[in-house]
Formats: sequence, structure tokens, C-alpha cells
Amino acid sequence: MIEITHKEIQLFQERIINWFEENGRTFPWRNPSANNYQKIISEVLLQRTQATTVSNFFPSFIEKYPSWKRLGLATELDLQEALKPIGLYKQRAARMYKLAQEMKRRKGRFPKTRQEAEKLPMMGQYISNAYELFILNNPSPLLDVNMARVLERFFGPRKLADIRHDPYLQSLSKRVVDYPKKAQINWAILDFASLVCKKRSPNCQICPLYNKCKYQFKNI
Ligand code: SF4
Repeated sequence: MIEITHKEIQLFQERIINWFEENGRTFPWRNPSANNYQKIISEVLLQRTQATTVSNFFPSFIEKYPSWKRLGLATELDLQEALKPIGLYKQRAARMYKLAQEMKRRKGRFPKTRQEAEKLPMMGQYISNAYELFILNNPSPLLDVNMARVLERFFGPRKLADIRHDPYLQSLSKRVVDYPKKAQINWAILDFASLVCKKRSPNCQICPLYNKCKYQFKNI
């Protein structure tokens, strides 16, 4: 297991937040006026779909389905029709329908703990983490393949193929987002993954993490 010091974590957090303050992206679900319903629905839509695609689609979806109550009145076919513009609409509609029906049964009230939230339909690890971050205000990582790529390049690689079960990456991501601006540091890493530390050709020349990055040293 790679030993990572508190100082290394701090350096990463400071540089990535500074970068975000200058370069972070604006999306409707990041707006301070976005409510918890919008934050959770955006994370459902963002799975396996680019943020810019969801961003263009999001306002019209929220206009049509502004609340759990309104979403709970939609049939699965209504949702399929509404979700067509962003693809994967059948799977997405089936899962969203189940979640909406459960939230309708709960009268729009979110569970009070993560353990309870995990029992809701479609709450895999990622959405449960989003729930913990946005609803419970805990330092919880939006750990997906993009966040994993940045962390692994900078700090060193994981051992297991599945990020959901890799103890190193799970623990590292929690340490990294344990920061006063919890949502912002998550968004910072995700934006950084999309704009700088890209999958195929990372822009290492303009990267604020360059002089400490393990990937960089490995590839010299
Ligand atoms: S130096 Fe390159 S690989 Fe390392 S974090 Fe920056 S962009 Fe990613």
C-alpha cells in the first residue's frame, strides 16, 4: 500500500482548489439556488453522460419535472420520452421511475442516514456518495473513473480493477475531499479531469500539480 502523507494531501487540495477558482465550470446544479432534488437528479443524469450534454438538457427537464412530487406522477414511458435526448433512455427511465415512486411513497422526504439511503432504488455507491455530500453535508467523494484517474496519476495507482472495491482509492478519495469546501473540491477534481488531466492526452505542461505528480516522473 502506498503511504501518502497529510502534507501531500494538503498540497493537492490547495493547488486543485486554486485552479478551480480560476477555471471551474458553471453548471445549473452547482448554482447556490439548486435544491436537493436538482442535485440528486443531476447526478443520476450525469452517470455515463458528459456534463456539457446534461447541462444543455437539464433546464428543460427540471422545468417539466420540478420536484419529486411531479416526477412521481410521470409514467415510465413519459420518462423514456423525456430522457431520449441524452441517450440510454430506457435504462435511465426504468431506474428513475423506481426512485421517483419510492420518493413519492416517502412524500419527497430523503432518508436521514446513508444506510437508509442505500436502500433506495438506483442508489449505487456513487449516488449514495452524492447523497451524503449534498444532503448530509459530509465529505464524501464523487469517485468515478475521472476522479480515479487524477488521483492515481498524481498519488500512484490502485491495485484492484473495480474502483468501488479498491481500499487504497476509497480511502485516498475520502481524505482528499475532507476539506472545508466539500462540494467545491469534488467539482474541482472532476473539472480538472475533464479539462487538464484528460484520459488520452493530459495537459501536463499547464498543470499546477506538475512538479509533484507521480505520473509525470514515470513518463519522463
Ligand atoms: S502532471 Fe499531467 S498527469 Fe499529472 S496531474 Fe497534471 S495533468 Fe495529470
